Amino acid sequence: MLQGKTALVTGSTSGIGLGIAKALAKQGAHIVLNGFGDFAGPKAEIAALGVKVAYHGADMSKASDIESMMKFAADTFGQVDILVNNAGIQHVAKIEDFPVERWDAIIAINLSSAFHATRLALPAMKAANWGRIINIASIHGLVGSAEKSAYVAAKHGVVGLTKVTALENATTGVTCNAICPGWVLTPLVQKQVDAKAVAMGLSNEEAKKVLLQEKEPSMQFTTPEELGELAVFFCSAAGNNVRGAAWNMDGGWTAQ
Ligand code: NAD
Repeated sequence: MLQGKTALVTGSTSGIGLGIAKALAKQGAHIVLNGFGDFAGPKAEIAALGVKVAYHGADMSKASDIESMMKFAADTFGQVDILVNNAGIQHVAKIEDFPVERWDAIIAINLSSAFHATRLALPAMKAANWGRIINIASIHGLVGSAEKSAYVAAKHGVVGLTKVTALENATTGVTCNAICPGWVLTPLVQKQVDAKAVAMGLSNEEAKKVLLQEKEPSMQFTTPEELGELAVFFCSAAGNNVRGAAWNMDGGWTAQ
């Protein structure tokens, strides 16, 4: 379905980003990976799906790095047809104890990076009259949780940015939507499981159960593979007129 298209997925060396990159590659899209840590492994996994894959190590907290990455993608593959703004970090603390540096980093990586990548991707998408911008927000783009001020503020901002991007391009073939996952068992969430296990004297399995019980009626983690399939849907012809949605995949979290 996506043969001849190029998808750039930020923060795709791990977790949800890697799951989405693989799902898009399975549909034939060439992939630009980004993120920290080991990238050779993820690159090989994508290449094994029979598409071209490139990697750029831009730090998504830096506008100049994002500019270099977008230029690299255009130079390598012609243009970016599908942009998945996924890179994100978390920090958990009460507002009065929240380190100012963590606030700034979360707003930069989880929110401002999506603005920068979007503004740089739009001209070529509009010229081609086809494009997909998929913002990985969170259920925390729709509701709050204590001790996650920066994350919740950034994710609500991402949902707002999604709506404006969709509206400004509503008469074109460029759509923009947000995905709002509940708990997904990636390194980002495992850290929160570990903290709970230590604080409550629980095993890893018990701490996972407590985490799910607090918020997610299904008692199941959403998987990167499921989120990848939702991204594929947004890229399909059936998604042509899905614009500005904030689509939850949250095991019933926000239905309560
Ligand atoms: P993860 O920690 O597994 O992956 C995060 C990715 O972002 C990694 O590839 C990491 O290298 C990259 N990254 C971090 N800082 C970066 C920076 N400055 N520049 C470039 N890349 C950077 O986490 P994940 O759970 O897969 O999270 C991916 C996205 O999904 C995030 O935006 C997160 O907020 C969102 N999300 C996660 C969950 C969940 O339960 N895991 C739920 C809702 C939303």
